[in-house]
Amino acid sequence: MPEGDTIFRSARALGKALTGRVVTRFETALAQLASVDDNAPLTGRTIEKVEARGKWLLIYFSGDLILTTHMLMSGSWHIYRPGERWRLGRRSMRVVIGTAHFEAVAFNVPVARFFTGRTLARNSAIPSLGPDLLGDTFAEDQARARILARGDQEIANVLLNQRVMAGLGNVYKVEVCFLCGIHPFRKVSSLSPSELDCLLHQSRRLLGENVRAESGEKIVTYTGARRTTGRSDTGARLWAYGRQGQPCRRCGAAILMRKQGPGARSTYWCPQCQPGDEPVAGWATPSARRRTGCG
Ligand SMILES: [Zn+2]
Repeated sequence: MPEGDTIFRSARALGKALTGRVVTRFETALAQLASVDDNAPLTGRTIEKVEARGKWLLIYFSGDLILTTHMLMSGSWHIYRPGERWRLGRRSMRVVIGTAHFEAVAFNVPVARFFTGRTLARNSAIPSLGPDLLGDTFAEDQARARILARGDQEIANVLLNQRVMAGLGNVYKVEVCFLCGIHPFRKVSSLSPSELDCLLHQSRRLLGENVRAESGEKIVTYTGARRTTGRSDTGARLWAYGRQGQPCRRCGAAILMRKQGPGARSTYWCPQCQPGDEPVAGWATPSARRRTGCG
């Protein structure tokens, strides 16, 4: 099942392909969408923006029409060049939005519905999104307040929650906690103000650097060559993610992994650089803090 951060990336990719384009073709296997298209045709409208909100993907068309698709279970959006062969069969197709340059195809989305701006605002099932870490301006105070409002939750889960802050995926969640020397299973309420500052600062810094690394386009690909260590050679790009059992790049301790959160996402951490509840023999916490360079 795609998680919020994955859907956030889908939205970015779709937005890049579709924003500002005119719809040349609209096709759907869903009766409710077809009837809206009959009455107020999609063809000829311009795609204004694409947005992720939690598990929902929203496509805004000119003339106050918003297509929402819930990405529960196996739902996905693909982007193709016109005429390019689809990777899934027609039977799985639910929606096609064609433009002169790309066509976007939704496969197996179980729930799809049109809204206007007003009806969407009244719908409480579709959550609003937290401050965008990749935005030109980042509402840091709002992000801080949203994190602190979840004091009883584990910090790594909160970092992934797109309603708190939008943009971090599972890899960055792991790397941000490492860089700040924070055990990912700690409760938000245990964070000091400087630790919280560090999480916010590193989240924005890492995403920003990886965006720049991809030629200035505001897309962070899901499978791309993300790096957080400043090194570009394969195998040295990340501090902790995917390195279970391998020596920590800072202290040499074996990196640990445990599934975490409602989506059972893989969380990696160094038991020495990111001290938590479990006792670590022969380790003095203060020096771990000093090493991270984040106060
Ligand atoms: Zn370490």
